[in-house]
Formats: sequence, structure tokens, C-alpha cells
Amino acid sequence: MDTLVSLSKRRGFIFQSSEIYGGTGSCWDYGPLGVELKQNIKRVWWRDYIQQRPDMVGLDASILMHPTVWKASGHVDNFTDPMVDCLECRRRFRADKVDETPWVHYCAATKGNKFTIPAGEPCSHCGERRTLCPDCGKGSLTAPRQFNLMFKTFMGPVEEDASLTYLRPETAQGIFVNFDNVAQSMRRKLPFGVGQIGKAFRNEITPGNFIFRTREFEQMEIEYFVNPRDTVEGKPADEYWHERWIADSLAWFQRYGLREENLRLREHEKDELAHYAKRTADVEYRFPIGWSELMGIANRTDFDLKQHAQFSGKALTYFDEERKEHVVPYVIEPSAGVDRALLAFLADAYQEEEVRGEKRVVLRFHPELAPVKVAVLPLLKKRDDVVRTAHAIRATLAKHWTVVYDDTAAIGRLYRRQDEVGTPYCVTVDVQTVGDSDKGESADGKVTIRDRDSMEQARVPIDTLPAVFLDLLSGGKWSAVASRFR
Ligand code: ATP
Repeated sequence: MDTLVSLSKRRGFIFQSSEIYGGTGSCWDYGPLGVELKQNIKRVWWRDYIQQRPDMVGLDASILMHPTVWKASGHVDNFTDPMVDCLECRRRFRADKVDETPWVHYCAATKGNKFTIPAGEPCSHCGERRTLCPDCGKGSLTAPRQFNLMFKTFMGPVEEDASLTYLRPETAQGIFVNFDNVAQSMRRKLPFGVGQIGKAFRNEITPGNFIFRTREFEQMEIEYFVNPRDTVEGKPADEYWHERWIADSLAWFQRYGLREENLRLREHEKDELAHYAKRTADVEYRFPIGWSELMGIANRTDFDLKQHAQFSGKALTYFDEERKEHVVPYVIEPSAGVDRALLAFLADAYQEEEVRGEKRVVLRFHPELAPVKVAVLPLLKKRDDVVRTAHAIRATLAKHWTVVYDDTAAIGRLYRRQDEVGTPYCVTVDVQTVGDSDKGESADGKVTIRDRDSMEQARVPIDTLPAVFLDLLSGGKWSAVASRFR
């Protein structure tokens, strides 16, 4: 994780928020390359799930909602974590997580020396287990108390209870309260889904582990409405679609580069299920901190629509034409964190290898996710015509993709820099490209393309570049494209 944090900062992916003021707890800013990567993740998600599927539509609901939404959804009463406080240093911890962090211990067997002991392990000197605060090692912890994770705020000029509302802790509720608007305006028949990408806020007690758990984050959520009276392939429709969404979600992450061995499914135990869920399965990823939730896929039944119907007094039902009856749809919710997905893609892409006796760091991003698709590099920056040609190529390719120009180092160093940020292809412009009239050498009008993963090169005519990159960046194999130019 430290390697990823430092690479992210050094290469402009992710910075600590308000760093010059000492940083804000668990808030992060996406730098120039981070924002490209994040946009790419959101774009492919939107394209694959909203744009390409006939049964899906999109939505962008506001972050601030009517406060009753959160009473109806159960968040005011149930969106809590048990927390414990240290009586000495006053730090607060999630009761169910204290034993999962390393702990500070002043060991009596070694004259009170201070040790930091790995999570869950006893002290190797005295055999004692943690009984005190894991952070200061001195104070006792209070009994667990429930703490609501929603951020409170006030709407309008008066700070009073009547104007109290919350920053949304999930994007889902914006979809539920718009169920009827979407179904009517888009003339939808069940089953259909509504997808949304947006910010969510949770006042997490123990945030941390870089962008894994933050207080402000983004979600990509789908609410997929089904008719619970229907059966598909012999199964109740909700159970059938739940299975489908689990399989689709796992396949989606693999499609964009996460290795199969780093993904697994974890079923929620009955006593762990949220108050609204019939069944929930988490897609877990082997993060640098160990196996942890990447996304959750829940069967929320008809809980949310029924609650909002009850609290708002508006019917949130669907008229089943065949059976001539009103039903409250069940909903399957595949819910993923954008930031967690980004961390997983970053961790999976990161590789160190040895090339000709030197360490090469390479981010093997899927081309659709790579923040920069092509880097155009002049081999001789003293030659005006080489530089001009390189700028012109960048401008042409930049109409379609994110492309950079760089002439601030020697070519070997420039390649390494692009490898380190995951740029799939580099284009170099050299003297042969533009010709050398002093030596009587004519221009060949060709440039060298270098492939990040194999480090192989191919020499291609400048005017074919847009078509070549269109092929390569939409799934074409390097070997096939390169062989056309041999
Ligand atoms: P966790 O158990 O890790 O707190 P959760 O089960 O509460 O997560 P959900 O409510 O299911 O999370 O939210 C769906 C997704 O949103 C999660 O799978 C995760 O990817 C993302 N997410 C939730 N909380 C955070 C957070 N504090 N920071 C970053 N991403 C988050």
C-alpha cells in the first residue's frame, strides 16, 4: 500500500486533501492522472451498464434530499456503527474493528518498552493480548455505543432542527424516490434498472487505508426492479436476477483487468444481513490490506419502495398488465465504490520487473482505463521539424484520446515514465520521420510505436496512426497490428 500511495503522489494520481494545511482526515484529491483514471472507470461502467443495455436507464439525483427520506429508509435509526472511546487519549474506534488494527503495548516483561504488535497477535515477550486502547496503549475503552454515520447539515439560513438534513450516505435512495418518475416518463416494463454514479458521505469512525475507506466517496449503483411474482428459469425473478448480477459484476471487474485469483465472492451470514436484505453477496478483492469488500450485491426486496410509499403517502407500485394487479417490485442492488474500484485496478496493474538489469515499474492498466493512451516523444528536441511533427501528431490524436507530449528527458527515461503511469503506447518521432536535407536523406513519414507490455516496436506511417490506435485501443492485439507493418 505504501508503494501505491507514494507512486500516486509522485506521479499525480492522488494527493492528500488540503495537504499544505496538514491534510484532512481520510479525504483525498484526485490529481491530473487520477481524475482521468477515475473518469475512465465511470465511463466504461456507464457505457456497459446504462448505454448498452436496453433494460437500463440513468439518473443523477441531488445529494441533499428531503430529511424524511432518511427516516423512511431506516438510516436515521439504523445507519450506525458501534463505537468505543479511549478514556485516556479520547480516540474513537469501531467496536467491531479494534482487534483488526495493530496495537501499541508497553510490555512489563521488558521494563515497559513500547512495541507495536500486529493485529490479533499477542505480545511475543509477555504473551499478553490487547486489553487497552490500540492507539495509545494506555487507556481503557468504554462499552460500545451506537454512532450514526450520516453527516448532518442545515438547509437555508436558520440552523434549527426543522432545517436539519443529511448528506446522502448512499446514492440508492435517490433512485427509489424517483421510481415512479422514471417508470412513467420512460414507459418502463419490469424488469428494468436505474443506474447512478455520485458522491456519498459517511462519517466513518475509523477511515483509512488510503482511498479504501474515506468519509467522502463515490458510488456506482444500480437498482434493478423485478416482478417478485414472475419466475425465470424456474426461480423466483428476484433470485434469478440476483444470481445474474453477481455473475455480471464479477465478470465486469475481470474484463477490465482484475485477476481472477484476486477476486472472490462472500455471502453475508444471516445475522450480518442489513435490515432490508433477503440475501447479500460481496465481491471481495485481495487489496494490499487483505481480502476486503469491493462491492455489495443485495436483494433489498420491496423494503425501500414500501417504506417510501408509507412515509410519502404516494403509491410506488407497478401495474402488472398480465395479472391485472398492482405489485411492489423487488430490487436487486449491485453497488460498487468508484474509489475502491480505482484502488483495486491500481493495485492489480502495479508490477515491478527487471529489464536489462534495471528495475522497471509498470502499471499494466487495461487500455480503456489507462489515464493517458498515447505519449508522443520527439527523439531530437533540437530539431524544429521533429518537434513540430510531434506536436502535430499529438494534436491529431488528442481529438480522440488523452494524449501527452513530453520532451523533458532522454528517450529511455521518457519510456520508463510512461510505463510507470500505465500509458499503453508511445510514439517517437525521429530524424528519419522528417528527413535530413543536409545529408540528402528524404523523410519516410513514419514514426515508431512502442507497446508498453511487450516493449516491442513497430514503424508505421503517420497517416495511419488514428486507425492503428483505434484498433489497438478498442481491443486489437499488438502482435496482429505490429505484424501488418513488418
Ligand atoms: P464496508 O463494510 O466496507 O463499510 P458497506 O458494506 O457499508 O462497506 P455499502 O453500503 O454496501 O458498503 O456500499 C457499497 C459500496 O460503496 C462498497 O462496496 C464500497 O465499494 C463503497 N463504500 C462504502 N463505504 C465506503 C467508504 N467509506 N469509502 C469508500 N468506499 C466506500
